[in-house]
Amino acid sequence: MVNSRSTMSRADIVRAVTDLLGADQVDTDATRLRESSVDRFRKYTSVHGIYDGPIPAAVVYPTSTDQVAQLLDFAHRERVAVVPRTGGTSTEGGLETVVEDALVIDGSRMDQVLHVDAENMMATTQCGVPLQDLEDLLRAQGLTTGHSPQSKPIAQMGGLVATRSIGQFSTLYGAIEDMVVGLEAVFPRGQVTRIKNVPRRAAGPDIRHVVIGNEGALAFITEVTVKLFRWYPDNTRYFGFLLPDFAAGVALLREVVTAGYRPSVARLYSPEDARQHFPDHPMDQNLVVLTAEGPTPLVEATATAIEAMAAAVEHQSISETVIRAWFESLNWGVDKIAAEKSVMLETAHLGYTTEVSVDWSRTAELYDAVMTRIRTTFPRLADLTMLGAHSSHSYQTGTNLYFVYDYAITCEPREEIDLYHLPLNAIIVEEALRVGGSMVHHHGVGKYRTPWVQEEHGSAYYVLSGLKRVFDPHNIMNPGSVYPMDEDGRAVLTESPVS
Ligand SMILES: Cc1cc2nc3c(=O)[nH]c(=O)nc-3n(C[C@H](O)[C@H](O)[C@H](O)COP(=O)(O)OP(=O)(O)OC[C@H]3O[C@@H](n4cnc5c(N)ncnc54)[C@H](O)[C@@H]3O)c2cc1C
Repeated sequence: MVNSRSTMSRADIVRAVTDLLGADQVDTDATRLRESSVDRFRKYTSVHGIYDGPIPAAVVYPTSTDQVAQLLDFAHRERVAVVPRTGGTSTEGGLETVVEDALVIDGSRMDQVLHVDAENMMATTQCGVPLQDLEDLLRAQGLTTGHSPQSKPIAQMGGLVATRSIGQFSTLYGAIEDMVVGLEAVFPRGQVTRIKNVPRRAAGPDIRHVVIGNEGALAFITEVTVKLFRWYPDNTRYFGFLLPDFAAGVALLREVVTAGYRPSVARLYSPEDARQHFPDHPMDQNLVVLTAEGPTPLVEATATAIEAMAAAVEHQSISETVIRAWFESLNWGVDKIAAEKSVMLETAHLGYTTEVSVDWSRTAELYDAVMTRIRTTFPRLADLTMLGAHSSHSYQTGTNLYFVYDYAITCEPREEIDLYHLPLNAIIVEEALRVGGSMVHHHGVGKYRTPWVQEEHGSAYYVLSGLKRVFDPHNIMNPGSVYPMDEDGRAVLTESPVS
């Protein structure tokens, strides 16, 4: 456990932030503090009321950029650790407060849609706007962001940008990094930094990418401007194909995407994973799901190509109605999260995921390698009730693999992470790196993939290190996230390229 580097007592920290913001923006309720010390990586221990890590000093709710700047200026001067937060749907420990007496800076009260510019096709929001609220507002005007992560009902704009999130329609609209036009962020010394909205620029490296994906480890995102697209709600076509071989499914996705078509959804499910969504799914079949959306002529051309490419391989088709109905219930709101908690408590059974990315040429190899290694080496194999994978985001050069695993917990709740989640996660990450892929596709590094972050970046890790050194020299910003941390609470950085 790392102690705060601050010389201030917990009570003094709370007093100082109360002086800055006022009492109604500072929460020290014991339950709130405990629940704010973790995220969904510890969803099992938290349903059992186990919170073993450091508990934050306070959750603070700024309502303006100026208040965020005051908070970060104070935290930087006094060496108080801060953990930015918005929707709270983080899955990789990004919200864990691993340093004593940290402040959780919750941006969810910065919840204004500031501007919808339908001529220049941009919308600007504060960080605490739930994506679902923005989408509802836009769709009423015939517009969409095109962003649709499964957590859309809860996740908010700041967190979505901070984690490099991606949505179900990514093959057409891209991921969040393709959508962000400009933004405003506050760096630790309280520097308010605005990256203006322009269609493109060639004025040196793209500094949006210092902020996008920083996971709160460099800056607090206060405002985001995203692109808008026209919304064509009545034109979407849905396709489902059963294929006997996972590698054949990968080849079909590759064929559609590299031929130049842009289906909005391009997915492949292993039999075990498909069975989770379709109870009658045959266990000797993989499932490819594609959708086409947009202006009618484009949808027709994409649909014709999809049907022709599927016809060239052995398959059975699934009805459009079945696939459409499935999509309409795919997202997770607070109701599904609450139901999951009850099931975990009643059955001592849960599911987790680890997502990575890989070139086309090694996708089937990675899938086979992970399935085989888990089935032959995972010590608690008897407790594994489901192991599968899907590809849900495809690119010109490759795709992602999203491994899913469910297990029955036959140990003390406190041991669950060490005995199940960490070893399974490690196998997937190690295999992805071994085949030249990325250890994380869209959930972020959080606190639990930091052991591999240097291997992920190789000789470029010193570039990432340089950002931390310059912008957050005292490592107050979400310590332990993205950058590994030593026992004294310092970020582990390198000064020169080491491979
Ligand atoms: C059921 C479920 C489904 C999911 N589906 C998807 C999916 O389809 N695609 C996907 O990409 N992810 C998905 N996720 C993961 C998660 O929803 C995303 O990472 C999302 O972007 C987090 O947004 P949030 O507002 O909840 O952020 P939080 O959980 O509050 O924070 C996430 C991270 O960002 C940092 N952060 C938060 N706000 C700020 C800020 N204003 N400035 C700087 N840093 C900040 C936090 O410190 C933390 O490290 C899913 C999660 C769940 C629980």
